[in-house]
Amino acid sequence: MTLRVGVIGTGMIGQDHIRRLTQVLSAVEVVAVSEARAAAVAPEGATVFATAGDLIRSETVEAVVICSWGPAHEEQLLDCIAAGKPVFCEKPLVTTAAAALRVMEAEVAFGRRLVQVGFMRRFDADYRRLKATLDTGMLGAPLMFHSTHRNASVPVGLYTSDMPLNDTLVHDADISRWLLNDEVTGVEVRVPRRSRRGSDLRDPVVVLLHMGSGALVDVEISVNIAYGYDIRGEVSCEEGTASLPLRPATVIRDIHGVRQLVPADWRERFIEAYDQEFREWIAAAGQGTATGPSTWDGYAATLVADAALRAAESGALEPVRMSQRPSLYGTTLEPAR
Ligand code: NAP
Repeated sequence: MTLRVGVIGTGMIGQDHIRRLTQVLSAVEVVAVSEARAAAVAPEGATVFATAGDLIRSETVEAVVICSWGPAHEEQLLDCIAAGKPVFCEKPLVTTAAAALRVMEAEVAFGRRLVQVGFMRRFDADYRRLKATLDTGMLGAPLMFHSTHRNASVPVGLYTSDMPLNDTLVHDADISRWLLNDEVTGVEVRVPRRSRRGSDLRDPVVVLLHMGSGALVDVEISVNIAYGYDIRGEVSCEEGTASLPLRPATVIRDIHGVRQLVPADWRERFIEAYDQEFREWIAAAGQGTATGPSTWDGYAATLVADAALRAAESGALEPVRMSQRPSLYGTTLEPAR
């Protein structure tokens, strides 16, 4: 069986996902694309639709991949749910908590999960092994998680001072909830000395996530670190620590010393995770449903981003107050595989 997919949004990640769906993965075919650049990047034989709504409602499309910018996601997700079609939505799920609640209400009313959110770290083999170790309980309860999120650079003028908190942080927030099986209850933000490399950008920032269990997560977000894309994580537990390994890379010894190369960007670091995320999406969408990061998880990340923006202004601990979790989204966070 081949899943017939329509892709909405053909920017940077939309084009990368079209490559993945057409050249890397099996049991899937991109039969439709939409948005301005679609005609230029459409795979052979794919129909180019003028609007996302027309693509979603097309009878040739069985499942949808949303790679448009965040403010467009709500309407596109609601259209997918109305059409009863499984949908993969790149993060952010939506850009406001009210919009997240509207999408959740529609999916709950439909009665079956249809939405998977693009939190690809949950599909990364290193993060999965880290979670599996924590879930055995062999190290006791997790007390602290140190999460480091460093980008070599960001596009000048396009990446603004709010974005470490409402765009970049969502990955750390989601992986913290998933690794620790916990919810974020409050957020603090501290701004250290600014990096001159970011000119007037608020960079770096340190975010403290207060978890329901009392565990604390500190997140360093540096978006102009120059040397590469460096993602690290270490969990301190009662009886030991567990951390992400250094990525397997050739060890170079030369006149400059001994070194391993750092990935250039997120595409390189998480390439296998994106592939695996889509393998699992294709399998679930073929059954008419979705697994993995849910609308509830997207809602949680949106609330954390909102609280982080408030905390950066107030300097205070800003609370995160979630609504009641609908039973559609289970009673605990997704288990490790
Ligand atoms: P991009 O290259 O700027 O592409 C943005 C897409 O949104 C384009 O298809 C663009 O359409 C469409 N769009 C429609 N209205 C727009 C408007 N008013 N302003 C800007 N874009 C508009 O962005 P991208 O990097 O592909 O990101 C797309 C989504 O993926 C975002 O939600 C982003 O957060 C997410 N993302 C996730 C990851 C991850 O690690 N999971 C990594 C990167 C991006 P046109 O073709 O008409 O320009």
